[in-house]
Amino acid sequence: MKTSRRKFMSDSLKATVGAAVGSSLIFDKAFAQPSGSLNGNTAFEFRQIPLPYEKNALEPSIDAMTMDIHYSKHHAAYIKNVNEAIVAEKLTYSSEQEFFDNASKLSSKVRNNAGGAWNHNFFWQVMKPGASGTPYGKIVAALDGSFGSVPKFMEQFNAAAMGRFGSGWAWLVKDASGKLLITSTPNQDNPLMDTAEVKGTPLLGLDVWEHAYYLKYQNKRNEYITNWWNVVNWDEVAKRLG
Ligand code: MN
Repeated sequence: MKTSRRKFMSDSLKATVGAAVGSSLIFDKAFAQPSGSLNGNTAFEFRQIPLPYEKNALEPSIDAMTMDIHYSKHHAAYIKNVNEAIVAEKLTYSSEQEFFDNASKLSSKVRNNAGGAWNHNFFWQVMKPGASGTPYGKIVAALDGSFGSVPKFMEQFNAAAMGRFGSGWAWLVKDASGKLLITSTPNQDNPLMDTAEVKGTPLLGLDVWEHAYYLKYQNKRNEYITNWWNVVNWDEVAKRLG
């Protein structure tokens, strides 16, 4: 009985993986979760969150065509590729945290695509149309305390985003001691990974891959960054600050 159930779960796993089914979890911190039994262990899958706004909603900061290609092609591919690789490599994890805690043991295919899957789910959520452009509420005191002032925080964050050579991300994170730090990661790495120079919980992240801005801004990454501040969802940052 147990064996046949296992076989059924194993056979049906492939069909389950990649299906972006609705789940309350995806609107919380977890963008990935155990998906079922794989040889008696718990497999793991990433899900692409529904975009929280229309693809043209962040214009003029981010144009609709960039958003369309970024979400529907780039992000969708990371999700598909990581889930296929998780099945192929028979990876089993019980949580998103456990998964990224073991990033150093992952194949480059899984690590790169898992980062791409998670980072973009996060990125869509820390932006919104009609944002204030400047932080407000409790996040202001936290930024003042950690960086001296909001402009100083933005200056340091911009420097991290501009200083990332090639493709990668800039981040504001809260480390294990509760301290706020700015960092950047190459490729699709993120601060949740055990490989990260600066580890912590991401509060804000900026994609500085050329695919995020090249159609509208070409080589002018600085203009993209300047305009991106206008769509930062500070409510979401504050929520993650806790
Ligand atoms: Mn991207």
